[in-house]
Amino acid sequence: MENIISNQRAFFNTNQTKNIDFRIKQLQKLKTLLQKNEERLEKAIYEDFSKSAFDNYSNELALLYLEIDDATRNLKKWSARKRVSTNLVNFPARSYIIPEPLGVSLIIGAWNYPYQLSFAPAIAAIAAGNTVVLKPSELPANTSRTMAEIINQNFEPEFFIVVEGGVQETQLLLQQRFDKIFFTGSVPVGRIVYQAAAKHLTPVTLELGGKSPAFILDDKNLDIYVKRLVWAKFLNAGQTCIAPDYILVKSSLKDALIQQLIAEIGKEQFSIGNQNYVQIISEKNINRLAKYIDKNKVVYGGNYDLATRVFEPTVMDNVTFDDAVMQEEIFGPILPVIAFESVDDVIAAVKRREKPLSCYVFTQDKKLRDKILHEISFGGGCVNDAIMHISNSKMPFGGVGESGIGSYHGQFGFRTFSHYKSILDKPVWLESGLKYFPHTPFKFKWMKRLLKL
Ligand code: NAD
Repeated sequence: MENIISNQRAFFNTNQTKNIDFRIKQLQKLKTLLQKNEERLEKAIYEDFSKSAFDNYSNELALLYLEIDDATRNLKKWSARKRVSTNLVNFPARSYIIPEPLGVSLIIGAWNYPYQLSFAPAIAAIAAGNTVVLKPSELPANTSRTMAEIINQNFEPEFFIVVEGGVQETQLLLQQRFDKIFFTGSVPVGRIVYQAAAKHLTPVTLELGGKSPAFILDDKNLDIYVKRLVWAKFLNAGQTCIAPDYILVKSSLKDALIQQLIAEIGKEQFSIGNQNYVQIISEKNINRLAKYIDKNKVVYGGNYDLATRVFEPTVMDNVTFDDAVMQEEIFGPILPVIAFESVDDVIAAVKRREKPLSCYVFTQDKKLRDKILHEISFGGGCVNDAIMHISNSKMPFGGVGESGIGSYHGQFGFRTFSHYKSILDKPVWLESGLKYFPHTPFKFKWMKRLLKL
């Protein structure tokens, strides 16, 4: 580990990564490699948790291609020094801000979207001129190995390397000094990463999780609301950090909602054995999910099979905030429905919990929509949809409070891996002498005038 990092630091210090054409070339090379290896990547992710080619393209690779295209198209603009106005006291200087790479970056990925969550931060890091040590999640073993093979056979290790491994290897990496750590994963491991980073005062971005609510506030378009919600919840079998974790519905609408949910889920694409429905990543996670099931409250599904690692899409009715399923992020295909009478009370209940990564509001009532957007703090979200906000790279993606620190995607990713250096550039043809000793009453008067006090 020490060698890898010292070699990367030495390479960074040659200043090659500061060249914009170098960065563009590396990003294009990465895109070509991913495109050339699409079938291989598809096979690996299918072997790991039966993710389909459709999902692999739409949720993983396409997002990476879009990130690369956005970065290569805009890199010159993003990395240009930016002139800003200069205040009177500094006349006749010029002021500008220079974005510079942070240096050697460590990226630690989560397993649920293994390509996207490993390579999207790497694209941002490369675009900003950093070197990259990438540690994908070890849980999907085939995707981790495939990423390591593709990157390590094609990039110089002093610029971009994939280090495979689990907890032990990650902890060894975390003992090293990096200039930036970008972590995607759970809140408890996020805390470990933050503590390790503190030792070296390394800046971190933490992309974590939480319980993201979906509010259903009217039934004007219930069929569309439910269609979008069901897709978002059971995509990747609920193993999505921004999946709607639970539904909050006005009591009067609950029965119609449950009926509609059951009808929508009952459609063929979500049935067990269908290749579009992915497996749960591990037996351990199936057992964790099984503990959330309260048989008396299940109105749909609730079955699972350890051998095939398939967990049925499940809906639970009459859930309260005190139930087991409401104590942790579900991260699986269980959808609890909580009915409420008062919007104010339910907003207060959400606010008593940690700030969620996402929040979804289904309503045609603009006042109610704005009330929720105004009163609840969360990472990002949608109105009348779910998950799709992640697909617009013009918006920062990240959490707040326990759901994360910092953000990325598009230019926000570039910023995350950059330092903005402020420069005051002063010519020598004028020297007022005002700031120098002796500080006479005359100088004091002029100093106050100049500072506008
Ligand atoms: P995880 O925290 O278990 O693992 C994430 C990474 O940390 C892995 O690479 C793993 O090897 C490493 N790791 C695990 N335990 C460690 C330890 N003790 N010390 C050092 N490193 C360790 O998370 P996960 O199971 O891969 O992902 C699920 C979680 O991630 C969920 O909470 C989900 O909401 C969150 N998530 C967030 C985002 C986001 O963008 N905000 C995206 C996907 C997942």
